[in-house]
Amino acid sequence: MADVFKALAEPVRRSVLDLLARQPLNVNQIADHFPAMSRPAISQHLTVLEEAGLIKIYKAGRERYGCLHRHAFDDLQAWLGKFLALGVPVGEYGILLNPENLSDAEALTQPVMLQAMLSRDARFDGRFYIAVKTTGIYCRPVCSASPKPENVLFFRTSAEAVKGGFRACKRCKP
Ligand SMILES: [Zn+2]
Repeated sequence: MADVFKALAEPVRRSVLDLLARQPLNVNQIADHFPAMSRPAISQHLTVLEEAGLIKIYKAGRERYGCLHRHAFDDLQAWLGKFLALGVPVGEYGILLNPENLSDAEALTQPVMLQAMLSRDARFDGRFYIAVKTTGIYCRPVCSASPKPENVLFFRTSAEAVKGGFRACKRCKP
């Protein structure tokens, strides 16, 4: 995948992919789209794209043609899918927590609870409670209240939050 990302990092190479998404072109036709670039520079870009598996260059008669090669695009989709499968994005924080890591109590670390709170992840409802130091109130992770991260404490149970001196939120009724 490293060569795919390296190939895609260059704007000229992404433009070549856009061109080839419309139709296969011979190398001269590709080069005609980049009048400011030398022919060897264009050839070099095509080589990088081919080595990354993004295009295929083939010979027909005296011409060399470039066309998109599906393989690298499938790899890219699989790579992206791994992240997108982690959860449905909610709000500006999205959810990129792995559901497989959510089942045991040790998985509920401070950063996990913080992100679950920021993304109001319903999968955490009932698994921890958010106490707000500035208001003395505690909430469920799905509460519509948006406390500042620096003002919150996390409790595993409602009873612990009460013992800590916090009152139940009237909105989310923890
Ligand atoms: Zn609440």
